[in-house]
Amino acid sequence: MPVDLVAFKDLHQYAVEHGVELVAVSKTKPNKDILVLYENGHRVFGENYVQELLKKHEELPKDIQWHFIGHLQSNKVKFIAPFVSLIHGVDSIKLLQAIEKEAKKNNRIVSCLLQMHIAKEETKFGFDIEELRSAAAEIFVEKNFPHVEVVGLMGMASFSENQDLIQSEFQQLKSTFDDIKSTYPEESASFKILSMGMSSDYKTAVACGSNMIRVGSVIFGARVKAS
Ligand SMILES: *Cc1c(COP(=O)(O)O)cnc(C)c1O
Repeated sequence: MPVDLVAFKDLHQYAVEHGVELVAVSKTKPNKDILVLYENGHRVFGENYVQELLKKHEELPKDIQWHFIGHLQSNKVKFIAPFVSLIHGVDSIKLLQAIEKEAKKNNRIVSCLLQMHIAKEETKFGFDIEELRSAAAEIFVEKNFPHVEVVGLMGMASFSENQDLIQSEFQQLKSTFDDIKSTYPEESASFKILSMGMSSDYKTAVACGSNMIRVGSVIFGARVKAS
Protein backbone atom coordinates (compact mmCIF):
# COMPACT_ATOMS: atom_id res chain seq x y z
CA MET A 1 0.00 0.00 0.00
CA PRO A 2 1.45 3.40 -0.95
CA VAL A 3 1.80 6.30 1.45
CA ASP A 4 -1.36 8.40 1.66
CA LEU A 5 0.20 11.79 1.16
CA VAL A 6 -3.13 13.60 1.34
CA ALA A 7 -3.86 12.01 4.71
CA PHE A 8 -0.38 12.90 5.88
CA LYS A 9 -0.75 16.53 4.87
CA ASP A 10 -4.14 16.75 6.57
CA LEU A 11 -2.69 15.24 9.70
CA HIS A 12 0.30 17.55 9.59
CA GLN A 13 -2.05 20.51 9.29
CA TYR A 14 -4.17 19.18 12.15
CA ALA A 15 -1.05 18.81 14.31
CA VAL A 16 0.10 22.36 13.58
CA GLU A 17 -3.34 23.79 14.31
CA HIS A 18 -3.62 21.93 17.61
CA GLY A 19 -0.03 22.50 18.68
CA VAL A 20 0.74 18.79 18.88
CA GLU A 21 3.77 16.92 17.61
CA LEU A 22 3.14 14.25 15.01
CA VAL A 23 5.21 11.07 15.27
CA ALA A 24 4.86 9.12 12.03
CA VAL A 25 4.83 5.46 13.04
CA SER A 26 6.73 3.64 10.30
CA LYS A 27 7.15 0.18 11.84
CA THR A 28 7.12 -2.63 9.25
CA LYS A 29 7.08 -0.05 6.45
CA PRO A 30 9.88 0.22 3.86
CA ASN A 31 12.46 2.99 3.62
CA LYS A 32 10.87 4.34 0.47
CA ASP A 33 7.66 5.13 2.37
CA ILE A 34 9.62 6.97 5.04
CA LEU A 35 11.45 8.93 2.34
CA VAL A 36 8.16 10.13 0.86
CA LEU A 37 7.41 11.89 4.14
CA TYR A 38 11.01 12.97 4.55
CA GLU A 39 10.91 14.67 1.16
CA ASN A 40 7.80 16.47 2.37
CA GLY A 41 9.73 17.85 5.30
CA HIS A 42 8.84 15.36 8.02
CA ARG A 43 11.61 14.30 10.40
CA VAL A 44 10.03 12.52 13.37
CA PHE A 45 9.41 8.79 13.01
CA GLY A 46 8.41 6.10 15.49
CA GLU A 47 9.58 2.50 15.44
CA ASN A 48 8.76 -0.51 17.64
CA TYR A 49 11.46 -3.07 16.91
CA VAL A 50 15.13 -2.60 17.73
CA GLN A 51 16.60 -4.51 14.78
CA GLU A 52 14.35 -2.74 12.32
CA LEU A 53 15.17 0.64 13.82
CA LEU A 54 18.93 -0.02 13.63
CA LYS A 55 18.70 -0.91 9.98
CA LYS A 56 16.60 2.13 9.12
CA HIS A 57 18.81 4.44 11.14
CA GLU A 58 21.81 3.20 9.20
CA GLU A 59 20.21 3.46 5.79
CA LEU A 60 18.19 6.66 6.04
CA PRO A 61 19.16 10.35 6.40
CA LYS A 62 20.91 11.16 9.64
CA ASP A 63 18.74 14.12 10.55
CA ILE A 64 15.71 11.89 11.14
CA GLN A 65 14.64 11.94 14.79
CA TRP A 66 13.90 8.37 15.76
CA HIS A 67 11.44 7.72 18.54
CA PHE A 68 11.36 4.25 20.03
CA ILE A 69 7.70 3.58 20.84
CA GLY A 70 7.65 -0.19 21.41
CA HIS A 71 8.32 -2.35 24.42
CA LEU A 72 12.04 -2.06 25.08
CA GLN A 73 14.04 -4.82 26.75
CA SER A 74 16.85 -3.68 29.04
CA ASN A 75 19.44 -5.74 27.19
CA LYS A 76 18.65 -3.98 23.91
CA VAL A 77 19.03 -0.42 25.16
CA LYS A 78 22.70 -0.37 24.19
CA PHE A 79 21.87 -0.64 20.49
CA ILE A 80 19.69 2.45 20.32
CA ALA A 81 21.27 4.60 23.06
CA PRO A 82 23.80 6.23 20.71
CA PHE A 83 21.18 7.94 18.54
CA VAL A 84 17.60 7.56 19.76
CA SER A 85 15.81 10.86 20.13
CA LEU A 86 12.99 9.84 22.51
CA ILE A 87 12.08 6.55 24.20
CA HIS A 88 8.32 6.47 24.82
CA GLY A 89 7.65 3.24 26.65
CA VAL A 90 9.73 3.28 29.82
CA ASP A 91 7.78 0.96 32.09
CA SER A 92 10.17 -0.09 34.85
CA ILE A 93 12.95 1.20 37.06
CA LYS A 94 15.13 -1.58 35.73
CA LEU A 95 14.75 -0.21 32.21
CA LEU A 96 15.48 3.30 33.45
CA GLN A 97 18.67 2.00 35.03
CA ALA A 98 19.71 0.35 31.77
CA ILE A 99 19.06 3.58 29.86
CA GLU A 100 21.05 5.54 32.44
CA LYS A 101 24.00 3.19 32.05
CA GLU A 102 24.03 3.24 28.26
CA ALA A 103 23.38 6.96 27.99
CA LYS A 104 26.36 7.59 30.26
CA LYS A 105 28.58 5.34 28.15
CA ASN A 106 27.58 7.34 25.10
CA ASN A 107 28.08 10.62 26.88
CA ARG A 108 24.47 11.56 26.19
CA ILE A 109 21.37 12.53 28.04
CA VAL A 110 18.56 10.40 26.64
CA SER A 111 15.00 11.74 26.72
CA CYS A 112 12.31 9.35 27.92
CA LEU A 113 8.63 9.15 28.66
CA LEU A 114 7.24 6.98 31.44
CA GLN A 115 4.50 4.69 30.25
CA MET A 116 1.37 4.49 32.33
CA HIS A 117 -0.91 1.48 32.14
CA ILE A 118 -4.35 2.96 31.45
CA ALA A 119 -6.05 0.30 29.32
CA LYS A 120 -8.31 -2.46 30.53
CA GLU A 121 -6.19 -5.06 28.76
CA GLU A 122 -3.60 -6.90 30.80
CA THR A 123 -1.29 -7.09 27.82
CA LYS A 124 -0.38 -3.42 27.71
CA PHE A 125 2.74 -2.43 29.58
CA GLY A 126 3.28 0.40 32.00
CA PHE A 127 3.41 1.68 35.55
CA ASP A 128 0.26 1.99 37.61
CA ILE A 129 -0.37 5.28 39.35
CA GLU A 130 1.39 4.43 42.62
CA GLU A 131 4.44 3.02 40.83
CA LEU A 132 4.52 6.12 38.71
CA ARG A 133 4.51 8.41 41.73
CA SER A 134 7.34 6.50 43.32
CA ALA A 135 9.31 6.47 40.05
CA ALA A 136 8.82 10.23 39.76
CA ALA A 137 10.25 10.64 43.27
CA GLU A 138 13.30 8.58 42.38
CA ILE A 139 13.83 10.62 39.26
CA PHE A 140 13.09 14.13 40.48
CA VAL A 141 13.93 14.01 44.19
CA GLU A 142 16.66 11.41 44.51
CA LYS A 143 17.96 12.28 41.05
CA ASN A 144 19.16 8.74 40.44
CA PHE A 145 19.31 9.04 36.67
CA PRO A 146 21.50 11.97 35.65
CA HIS A 147 21.83 10.78 32.04
CA VAL A 148 18.11 10.38 31.55
CA GLU A 149 15.73 13.24 31.08
CA VAL A 150 12.16 12.22 31.81
CA VAL A 151 10.19 14.65 29.69
CA GLY A 152 6.67 13.34 30.17
CA LEU A 153 4.24 10.45 30.05
CA MET A 154 2.93 8.06 27.43
CA GLY A 155 -0.04 5.75 27.36
CA MET A 156 -2.21 3.57 25.15
CA ALA A 157 -5.96 3.36 25.54
CA SER A 158 -7.91 0.14 25.33
CA PHE A 159 -8.39 -1.37 21.91
CA SER A 160 -12.08 -0.58 21.79
CA GLU A 161 -14.83 1.09 19.83
CA ASN A 162 -16.10 2.60 23.05
CA GLN A 163 -15.06 6.26 22.84
CA ASP A 164 -16.27 6.93 26.41
CA LEU A 165 -13.93 4.28 27.75
CA ILE A 166 -11.03 5.60 25.67
CA GLN A 167 -11.78 9.13 26.79
CA SER A 168 -11.83 8.19 30.46
CA GLU A 169 -8.49 6.41 30.08
CA PHE A 170 -6.91 9.42 28.40
CA GLN A 171 -8.36 11.69 31.09
CA GLN A 172 -6.78 9.50 33.74
CA LEU A 173 -3.39 9.85 32.05
CA LYS A 174 -3.78 13.60 31.67
CA SER A 175 -4.70 14.07 35.32
CA THR A 176 -1.71 11.96 36.40
CA PHE A 177 0.49 14.08 34.14
CA ASP A 178 -0.86 17.29 35.72
CA ASP A 179 -0.46 15.79 39.18
CA ILE A 180 3.23 14.97 38.65
CA LYS A 181 3.83 18.35 37.07
CA SER A 182 2.39 20.19 40.03
CA THR A 183 4.21 17.96 42.52
CA TYR A 184 7.55 18.84 40.90
CA PRO A 185 7.17 22.43 39.75
CA GLU A 186 10.92 22.85 39.22
CA GLU A 187 10.95 20.06 36.64
CA SER A 188 7.85 21.34 34.91
CA ALA A 189 9.79 23.14 32.22
CA SER A 190 11.14 19.90 30.82
CA PHE A 191 8.35 17.56 31.95
CA LYS A 192 6.00 18.65 29.22
CA ILE A 193 5.19 15.85 26.78
CA LEU A 194 1.99 13.87 26.94
CA SER A 195 2.18 11.20 24.26
CA MET A 196 -1.24 9.71 23.65
CA GLY A 197 -3.35 8.97 20.61
CA MET A 198 -2.97 6.73 17.56
CA SER A 199 -4.78 6.45 14.22
CA SER A 200 -8.09 5.42 15.73
CA ASP A 201 -8.19 7.73 18.73
CA TYR A 202 -5.88 10.73 18.25
CA LYS A 203 -8.71 13.27 18.13
CA THR A 204 -10.06 12.03 21.45
CA ALA A 205 -6.52 12.10 22.84
CA VAL A 206 -5.91 15.68 21.74
CA ALA A 207 -9.26 16.74 23.18
CA CYS A 208 -8.05 15.23 26.48
CA GLY A 209 -4.78 17.18 26.42
CA SER A 210 -2.33 15.12 24.38
CA ASN A 211 0.48 17.09 22.77
CA MET A 212 2.17 14.23 20.92
CA ILE A 213 0.33 11.77 18.71
CA ARG A 214 1.76 8.54 17.26
CA VAL A 215 0.07 7.80 13.98
CA GLY A 216 0.86 4.95 11.60
CA SER A 217 -1.89 3.38 9.55
CA VAL A 218 -3.68 6.60 8.61
CA ILE A 219 -0.48 7.66 6.82
CA PHE A 220 1.16 4.43 5.71
CA GLY A 221 -1.84 2.15 5.34
CA ALA A 222 -2.69 -0.93 7.35
CA ARG A 223 0.19 -3.11 8.48
CA VAL A 224 0.46 -6.73 7.43
CA LYS A 225 2.26 -7.78 10.57
CA ALA A 226 0.09 -7.13 13.59
CA SER A 227 1.27 -5.09 16.55
C1 LIG B 1 1.83 0.83 16.21
C2 LIG B 1 1.75 1.86 17.27
C3 LIG B 1 1.17 3.12 17.00
C4 LIG B 1 0.52 3.49 15.69
O1 LIG B 1 -0.63 2.75 15.47
P1 LIG B 1 -1.67 3.13 14.30
O2 LIG B 1 -2.94 2.55 14.77
O3 LIG B 1 -1.15 2.48 13.07
O4 LIG B 1 -1.69 4.59 14.17
C5 LIG B 1 1.19 4.06 18.01
N1 LIG B 1 1.74 3.80 19.21
C6 LIG B 1 2.29 2.61 19.50
C7 LIG B 1 2.89 2.38 20.84
C8 LIG B 1 2.31 1.60 18.55
O5 LIG B 1 2.84 0.41 18.85
